[in-house]
Amino acid sequence: MNSIFTGIQMVDLKSQYKKIKTEVDQEILDTIESAAFINGPKVKQFKEHMERYLNVASVVPCANGTDALQIAMMALGLQPGDEIIVPAFTYVATAEVIALLQLKPVMIDVDPDHFNINIEQVEQALTPKTKAIVPVHLFGQSVDMTPLLEFAKAHNLYIIEDNAQSIGADVQLSTGTQKAGTIGHIGCTSFYPAKNLGAFGDGGAIFTNDAELAEKITAIANHGQAKQRYYHDMIGVNSRLDALQAVVLNIKLKHLDDYAAARNKAAQFYDNTLKDIEQIQTPKRVSWSNHVFHQYTLKVPANHRDSLKQFLQKQGVPSMIYYPVPLYKQKAFQPFVDSNITLPVTEKLCDTVISLPMHTELQEEQLNYISEQIHTYFDKNE
Ligand SMILES: *Cc1c(COP(=O)(O)O)cnc(C)c1O
Repeated sequence: MNSIFTGIQMVDLKSQYKKIKTEVDQEILDTIESAAFINGPKVKQFKEHMERYLNVASVVPCANGTDALQIAMMALGLQPGDEIIVPAFTYVATAEVIALLQLKPVMIDVDPDHFNINIEQVEQALTPKTKAIVPVHLFGQSVDMTPLLEFAKAHNLYIIEDNAQSIGADVQLSTGTQKAGTIGHIGCTSFYPAKNLGAFGDGGAIFTNDAELAEKITAIANHGQAKQRYYHDMIGVNSRLDALQAVVLNIKLKHLDDYAAARNKAAQFYDNTLKDIEQIQTPKRVSWSNHVFHQYTLKVPANHRDSLKQFLQKQGVPSMIYYPVPLYKQKAFQPFVDSNITLPVTEKLCDTVISLPMHTELQEEQLNYISEQIHTYFDKNE
């Protein structure tokens, strides 16, 4: 039996598309007819809808989430050698852009329960060269931003939120509730198809409430061109969101909260059916953020993790390991990190996490089947 047989997918983008197909197809055809492919009205509309949804002053659409992070760091005027604090348990892009800009990624550990950085870990990494912190809102839940904001303010540090995985999450601050990605100086997101708000290709966006930064970010994303065409004030990049992607995102944005609800329903189902398996820890929920379940990630004993994955694969249940290697152990980062770095929580997580199928179209019988298979595995391997 394989996943073709069961029809269970890690992310089911086809079924999601079918539900919005009529609207999407018509608007894509209209846009092709209009031939406004770059920075046309569709991109402007999406920018405005996103600003309203997030309650943020400026959204600058760009080509992908990695570019969003790079442009954010370029806009802050960081200098080669400046230290940027990042978690070691994240997707490579978060730290890659730091190295690319000749900044120094200072990798820190994460919390074993919610997988995100917390203030103690950040405090230990502070040096006179520290200029910014990149909190990553991993798997759908935000970093505890209130103490982080206080710390950043006290030490004059920038906060660049990597919100590629938690778009739409609500974060409780001492000042009220705000959307993840709109809290630091700059927030970044990705519209990669498998993200919670996914395009039909690559896409990304940068968020800020600072008007001056917004202007700079807009210019950098368009070859450093500020106002007048063919006059370039700074070195920038070419990073734009295609109009056709903006069409898709505009339509999906209307459903984003329903998508999060569907993901939460699936997560709840997993929670209820898996909670009595002693060897498993289901995802913890934090008090300061809701969860939009980009991933549903279990912790299992290290000696069972890979064999569970193989067993599930044989039963037609896909699963993924996010992430198998701490970033500081990746070959590419060897020139950028201290050779003696070890972060025990990150290392343990890399050996014990396993993410189950999570998307907006999971059917109850599929969820039932998945948890039955996990039960079968642990019944046989107590
Ligand atoms: C997906 C992702 C990115 C990069 O986004 P792309 O659009 O793929 O470039 C950055 N950070 C995190 C945490 C991500 O999950």
